[in-house]
Amino acid sequence: MFLISDLCTMLETYLEKEQVEEVYRAYLFGAEAHEGQMRLSGEPYIYHPIAVARILAGLKLDHKTLMAAILHDVIEDTDFAKDQLAKEFDEEVAELVDGVSKLTLIKFESKAEAQAENFQKLMLAMAKDVRVILIKLADRLHNMHTIGIMRPEKQRRIAKETLDIYVPIAHRLGINNIRVELQELGFKALHPQRYKIIKESILKARGNRTEIISKIETSVSERLTNEGIICKVIGREKSLYSIYQKMRSKHLSFSQVFDVYAFRIIVNSVDDCYRAVGIMHNLYKPLPGRFKDYIAIPKNNGYQSLHTVLFGSYGVPIEVQIRTDDMEKVAEAGIAAHWLYKQNDANMARVTANDWLRGILEIQKTSGNSMEFLENVKIDLFPDVVYVFTPTGEIMELPRGATGVDFAYAVHTDIGDSCVAIKIDRHLSPLRTPLETAQTVEIITAPGAKPNPAWLNFVVTGKARTHIRHYLKNLQSDEAISLGRRLLERSLASHALSIEKIPESRTNEFLKSMNINAFENLLQDIGLGNRLPLLVAKQLAARMHPLPLDKISRKKAKHPFAFKRIFSRYAPSWLKQERLKVSPLAIKGTEGVVVNYAKCCRPIPGDSIVGIFNAGKGIVIHIAACSNIQDTKKNPENILELQWEENIAGEFPVEIKIIVSNKKGVLATVASAISGMESNIENVVLNDKDTKFTEMNFLITVKNRKHLANIIRHVRSLDQVKKITRTKG
Ligand code: MN
Repeated sequence: MFLISDLCTMLETYLEKEQVEEVYRAYLFGAEAHEGQMRLSGEPYIYHPIAVARILAGLKLDHKTLMAAILHDVIEDTDFAKDQLAKEFDEEVAELVDGVSKLTLIKFESKAEAQAENFQKLMLAMAKDVRVILIKLADRLHNMHTIGIMRPEKQRRIAKETLDIYVPIAHRLGINNIRVELQELGFKALHPQRYKIIKESILKARGNRTEIISKIETSVSERLTNEGIICKVIGREKSLYSIYQKMRSKHLSFSQVFDVYAFRIIVNSVDDCYRAVGIMHNLYKPLPGRFKDYIAIPKNNGYQSLHTVLFGSYGVPIEVQIRTDDMEKVAEAGIAAHWLYKQNDANMARVTANDWLRGILEIQKTSGNSMEFLENVKIDLFPDVVYVFTPTGEIMELPRGATGVDFAYAVHTDIGDSCVAIKIDRHLSPLRTPLETAQTVEIITAPGAKPNPAWLNFVVTGKARTHIRHYLKNLQSDEAISLGRRLLERSLASHALSIEKIPESRTNEFLKSMNINAFENLLQDIGLGNRLPLLVAKQLAARMHPLPLDKISRKKAKHPFAFKRIFSRYAPSWLKQERLKVSPLAIKGTEGVVVNYAKCCRPIPGDSIVGIFNAGKGIVIHIAACSNIQDTKKNPENILELQWEENIAGEFPVEIKIIVSNKKGVLATVASAISGMESNIENVVLNDKDTKFTEMNFLITVKNRKHLANIIRHVRSLDQVKKITRTKG
């Protein structure tokens, strides 16, 4: 039985006295919190956290980690909460325990192989502090040691989870002794029969090997020392699980895998590595094709070593690994983390890996300095991604900053197109909320809902962006066609024509001559401002009348029956008005993306307005008197007469300038006066004019001119306000 006193003895070898006392205090707290609880084995519960702390003490971790290890099940299994731990100990310890509890809450259900990898990543991403993972691994290791007490079915499930999730995580973090132990225990629980057979075979085969191994060891180290190389030669045995895997993957028999003598030679420099391999090849004959230079070309996880296989004098191959002390440390404790190399810049990644490694080495060297330890282990493992759950428990990987809309499009395009709201951890949230790792995200869709152009301001994934743009492009073309139709009808009306009145054959003739494929394309072109409706109408009309209208009127002397002459002579004056002077196009305010409101003058319903054709974009509406368009107005073909439709709903932005005297709280007074008039303030810019006055420029929304006039009147009545005007370009 490993007791708290044993743990303290162990800690005293590398921690300060006060730190050991802190760990003991955590023990007293934990023992009381778990009072009365039992493990399945019938032992008092507190034995488990002590055993977990022992494993971490074996890695020489700092006292905060050990305290958290002892308390690791307190939040999950007792009545104490995180803030109570923070009060009793400190924020750091509470944070670590909380991190472990959160990992415990996620239940891994091995549905798909692909999910296993995401799950590993999720765990690594959730634990912002690597020590949380270390505690979790130690927790799992002890649970695997005591797994025998459980029902066989549960044993298998936990063993599988250990092999699928925890072993790869330990591998990624390079915590090799924990990884190997987890593997062996997992294998034993998952395949007890196979484990037993291999274990017996090893025991049987080991018998006469010991002597041979020590003979080879001696001759190798003598030879190298004679050549002036300082070295350490270590005989090693393969792990049970690795034998099993090799037998399976390479279809080998046990003796083919096991009957190998394996050595590791540790030397002082890279130079010595290459010299040593030369000497070894001289001592024993090398097996062709088995020499590997992982020093020049390191493995993905940063592992470096020279590998070779030799024919010994005992009829059994000898596997040799040669590396320096530093490389040995990488191989043992280093960062076996291929996921770090996922980032594009391999050099950058290696620096990060080395930083991590240095951190590990620092822990071992300067144990006790927990601040330094903290600096070294607090690395952001996945700086650029978040992992979130779907309601069915699938894990989605998204770039950092991704919002509900990104998530919706990641799930399915249709869901993205029709999303209206999201629930984050069951709480309704705005679609633009950035998601955080481990949140559960549910998308609420509505039939007929459409993507919103404003989403483009906050989505971060290419998929969401592309789909929204695609939708808007289609939308723009629909809206352009409908606007184009209205514009063309209006222009045709001045020729006493309409689209319906022109025979299809004439229209097609015209389209062909203009090289346009379809009538809709013509309408879209007009709506987008690429063709002027007046010119198109004129050309279409020319195909209806023997001569264009303007020519009829000019040549009326030569054509006594010309249309206009007859018309003007016999038609009543009201009809003449109606036919020849067509009423301006009405603006409804809901035209969409092809009708834009100029930012220079910000027209609102009630203003007299004109439209300017803007190629590719449709129409831009200006106030008729806007100074920016006076030049354009000289060419009447570019100008479109417009009027507002009656009873327009909607909010229109407008700028107002207010001069106020500098009194305390004046901005708040003015702002609340504006808001009180059912207007939204979108922006305000302040300019101090002098010590007495300040100029405030507000961008507010109004329904129409009347609404604006009411607001102005109301604001003007305030004492502090000296002057208020609407800004128009
Ligand atoms: Mn536990």
